[in-house]
Amino acid sequence: MTKKRVVLTFPHEIVSQPVVYYLVKDYNLMINILRARVTPQEQGRLVVEISGKKKELEAGMNYLAELNIDIQSLTRDIKWHENKCVHCTACIPHCPTDAISLDRDTMKVSFDKQKCIACELCIPTCPYQAIEIVI
Ligand code: SF4
Ligand code: SF4
Repeated sequence: MTKKRVVLTFPHEIVSQPVVYYLVKDYNLMINILRARVTPQEQGRLVVEISGKKKELEAGMNYLAELNIDIQSLTRDIKWHENKCVHCTACIPHCPTDAISLDRDTMKVSFDKQKCIACELCIPTCPYQAIEIVI
């Protein structure tokens, strides 16, 4: 049994298709949805743990790639540098797990490592390099 944690970003034309159903039915995979979100532009994003036999997992990943679904593996760790953060909130809408959040009373941003799944979606959004990938 192989297990993989990934972020799947669906183009808007795929959002309404039962992709997860086909992964289960046709590729015999188990899907644990950790987080799901559809943006106002109707781009879909799923954070999932997929497990199954190695060959079936590979075939399922190929199926997703053929649908132009972007697949990002969750393998690395993330470090937030509080001293570099200017609390601009640019990263917050991109975090699928609310690991980065805003306290609306103080207007300060904070990072909860326990919630972070290292999807790296916040990294390019920070103009101050306050979020770093740790390998
Ligand atoms: S890597 Fe960034 S966007 Fe992804 S869960 Fe962690 S804090 Fe949120
Ligand atoms: S984008 Fe960077 S500077 Fe802005 S709140 Fe997020 S971590 Fe802080």
